[in-house]
Amino acid sequence: MVPPTEAPQRTRARRGEGQWALGYREPLNPNERSKKDDNPLNVRARIENIYAHQGFDSIDPADLRGRFRWYGLYTQRRPGIDGGRTAVLEPEELEDPYFMMRVRIDGGALTTEQLRVIGEISQTFARDSADITDRQNVQLHWIRIEDVPEIWQRLEAVGLYTTEACGDCPRVVLGSPLAGIAADEIIDGTPAIREIAKRYIGDPEFSNLPRKYKTAISGSPRWDVEPEINDVSFVGAVHPEHGPGFDLMVGGGLSTNPKLAVRLGAWVPLDEVAEVWAGVTRVFRDYGYRRLRHRARLKFLVTDWGAEKFREVLENEYLHRKLIDGPAPNPPEGQRDHIGVHPQVDGKFYVGVKPVAGRVSGATLVAAAKAAERVGSQRLRTTVHQGLIVLDVDEADVPSLVHELSGLGLAAEPSPWRRGVMACTGIEFCKLAIVETKARAANLVAELEQRLADVQARLDRPITVNLNGCPNACARTQVADIGLKGQIVTNDAGEQVEGFQVHLGGGLAADAGFGRKVRGLKVTADELPDYVERLARRFLEQRTEGERFAH
Ligand code: SF4
Repeated sequence: MVPPTEAPQRTRARRGEGQWALGYREPLNPNERSKKDDNPLNVRARIENIYAHQGFDSIDPADLRGRFRWYGLYTQRRPGIDGGRTAVLEPEELEDPYFMMRVRIDGGALTTEQLRVIGEISQTFARDSADITDRQNVQLHWIRIEDVPEIWQRLEAVGLYTTEACGDCPRVVLGSPLAGIAADEIIDGTPAIREIAKRYIGDPEFSNLPRKYKTAISGSPRWDVEPEINDVSFVGAVHPEHGPGFDLMVGGGLSTNPKLAVRLGAWVPLDEVAEVWAGVTRVFRDYGYRRLRHRARLKFLVTDWGAEKFREVLENEYLHRKLIDGPAPNPPEGQRDHIGVHPQVDGKFYVGVKPVAGRVSGATLVAAAKAAERVGSQRLRTTVHQGLIVLDVDEADVPSLVHELSGLGLAAEPSPWRRGVMACTGIEFCKLAIVETKARAANLVAELEQRLADVQARLDRPITVNLNGCPNACARTQVADIGLKGQIVTNDAGEQVEGFQVHLGGGLAADAGFGRKVRGLKVTADELPDYVERLARRFLEQRTEGERFAH
């Protein structure tokens, strides 16, 4: 007898969701067609041999708006186009002949030399622009196609690259910024991150996945890479017999159908992480839904199958062995952003700093690298909270480093508002955006620092405010205390203006859950400081002992 829960799966399979493993290869949507017509990785040769010489107008539109992403390149939004027109204009009307370039930084691990090179590239080729993203990357803007080969040469000379920084492929592998230096670390995931990057990034076997594919690996008990909302995650867990390893989770993601990742109940030792990661990736490649873009992320397959079936397919068809059953990892604890000065396990210190909403500049990155080197450090890390960490600092050098970084706008003791605010790229550069985000975030931080100076000492943890320029939730709308989704709203005078749908009370870690989208709860962008101030004051006045914003 067929259990009732299998009925929907059979219905779906008959109709077909574009799963390769079930033979559904046609019809193709435009994205699938583009990937089938030519492996996106092949576009690099055309950039180097043709487009960089013949200029922007020579670029094949299928490369420009599709395959370029596999090398971290998107065209920028043309300045001056308001968000109300985002949905109605043709792509060529929206775009500028300049590119955003995403430099992937697997594990968030950088040498000072690498950071300096990124900063110098920014100064030379990107009008001194740079943003630290909430996925540990650095994004540059104003890149000309003519300069891309030279930029790649300079990046690759120091071991950096942009391959598969965007596109339907394995994006940057997130890693704990404190890997290898934290006293409370369960296990250091660095070898697994390096192995995945070396073996599989740029591998044509994984360059045509149904959709973007996000990986997080952290042996920190804080779960400091937001594993709950990645497609595949390995979280530090101690097995009673085998010792430290990783708990495997799949199917997390935000955007318009947010899902938290589910545990498969399997424990994976460090030296098997890359193999198991490749197995999960193959399941996604072969069984993922390709028919409709908005159902193509791994979370939809995981939701339909459930953890048990997913693990069964992974073991039986891909790994050809059973995984080891594992206990649930301990619930995450502690702040995840690593801001401030803290001891390392080896007696040195790390200094975590926060620029406002990740916005820096090439000059700032060069200066930060020099500041780190001045105190003898050669290592930095980026964080998923748009922060930067300098490692390996002697205690005696900490005050002068903190002072120097502060002068660069990199605060080791940020106000709770600066610490808690994140923003996506927004209308300044993003073609999908409906509203401005980075400048609004900076304004919001400045306003709140001034207006709430009298009460901010009472906040034992920052109230997080995440500004997003559209429903895509790149800055994690649904898991902030105050999540803001950009849209056009009507103000009191009846005018259509930039504003936000508000999601309240989201969180990860112990509070994992999505913010409530209160019907009709929208604010205009101009009202935002008033609104956040009101909320913060009310929370501080009414909260009970130990109460957190989410509850
Ligand atoms: Fe662009 Fe929207 Fe993502 Fe912001 S959330 S970066 S506006 S796609």
